[in-house]
Amino acid sequence: MANILVLGGNFAGLTAALETRRHLKDTGHTVTVISQRDYFLFVPSLIWVPFSEREIKDITLPVEPILRKRGIEFVHATATRVNQYENYVETTAGRFNYDYLVIATGPKLDYSISGVGPDNGYTACICDPEGALDTRERFENLVDNPGPVVIGATQAAGCVGAAYEFLFNAEFNLRKRGVRKKVEITWITPEPFLGHFGIEGIAGGNTMLRKMFATLEINFVTNTKIDHVSQDEITLGDGRALPFAFSMLMPPFVGQDVVSNSPGLGNAKGYVPVNGAYQHKEFPNVFAAGIAVDVPAPFTTPVPLGIPKTGFPADEEAKIAAYNIANLVNARVDLKVKEFGHIPGVCILDAGHKEVYLVANHLFKPRQFAALIPNPVYDGGKRALEKYFLWKTRNGLSYLT
Ligand SMILES: Cc1cc2nc3c(=O)[nH]c(=O)nc-3n(C[C@H](O)[C@H](O)[C@H](O)COP(=O)(O)OP(=O)(O)OC[C@H]3O[C@@H](n4cnc5c(N)ncnc54)[C@H](O)[C@@H]3O)c2cc1C
Repeated sequence: MANILVLGGNFAGLTAALETRRHLKDTGHTVTVISQRDYFLFVPSLIWVPFSEREIKDITLPVEPILRKRGIEFVHATATRVNQYENYVETTAGRFNYDYLVIATGPKLDYSISGVGPDNGYTACICDPEGALDTRERFENLVDNPGPVVIGATQAAGCVGAAYEFLFNAEFNLRKRGVRKKVEITWITPEPFLGHFGIEGIAGGNTMLRKMFATLEINFVTNTKIDHVSQDEITLGDGRALPFAFSMLMPPFVGQDVVSNSPGLGNAKGYVPVNGAYQHKEFPNVFAAGIAVDVPAPFTTPVPLGIPKTGFPADEEAKIAAYNIANLVNARVDLKVKEFGHIPGVCILDAGHKEVYLVANHLFKPRQFAALIPNPVYDGGKRALEKYFLWKTRNGLSYLT
């Protein structure tokens, strides 16, 4: 009987556990999820929390009941080290042996650029519930005391798309609150052009964004590298200084400490090197999915960019890893393979009560089909997606798209 251990209980971890269970149902194999958080968080909706359009309770679900119903054990703990040579994981709740391991621990936010980040720096970040609530407080201060705003992404930022979404939502809410005319907004990005998104852009995206920036009177600076941030000024690599009263900057993502603290498991950034079957390149009973996966960029840019390891690929990778683990458990050697770059691009970008649908047959070029389709009327698609995803997750229906 096989013992499958999944580290992380959000997009990739939950899907990997539920799908492994589905493929290995009624067989007596054990599936266990160990996660630092005991709730599922619909991360994309964090962009609305600073504007009080969502509370954290609206976008979270306790994971234990979802898993228990499907015969999956849940341990609320932090994994601290993997011994991939002897097949066990050390956690804050003790040691767990495994036959197959899935690492789905997502990103750690890298605040090593001086002055970036909400705790030891001066900039807000919407990447987790605490950060999103802190951003709400800072935004309310801005409404009371309007001043210059700088929104964007640092060099090697993990998720530029979400920063664009925050930008348009902030602009919309400043207008709604009647202070937009008192606020100059500047967007800074490591991208070589607007709409690169870490995937070399989508046809028409740059033109669409340039028009939106012009219409909404948002300044922008591309190819930016941040040197340091002080209390009221962001200094760029070329020496330019941008004053701010409010700033939200997407930081770089790196892998979690559990990977960095396990010699031989990950690369220098703490990501797990896998093949197209999401199987570790050296340890065939170790798999990874979601942001934990190492994805080398197939392009270069003057300023380093992060790859957007978004929700759809996280889900796809977890499904592939689960299918492959079940095959290996059943002594089958045929493994499903789909490289990250060949996964379709499917995303809805919220633009402040407007939205843009991004669809592409491959995340990375070459692509045979790619389009950005604006919905200038209302951001109903993104809101419907949130409701659908929470319903699907609550019911453990991980096999649905
Ligand atoms: C603000 C924002 C907006 C976004 N918007 C979109 C969007 O609109 N569309 C989209 O497709 N994607 C979006 N993304 C990206 C999307 O959120 C990620 O692709 C997705 O969360 C990745 O899933 P994951 O399971 O790899 O990591 P996560 O969702 O981060 O989950 C990691 C899990 O592992 C747990 N964990 C971490 N360390 C440990 C440890 N040591 N031991 C045990 N458990 C651990 C964490 O508690 C967490 O539960 C957005 C991201 C951000 C930050």
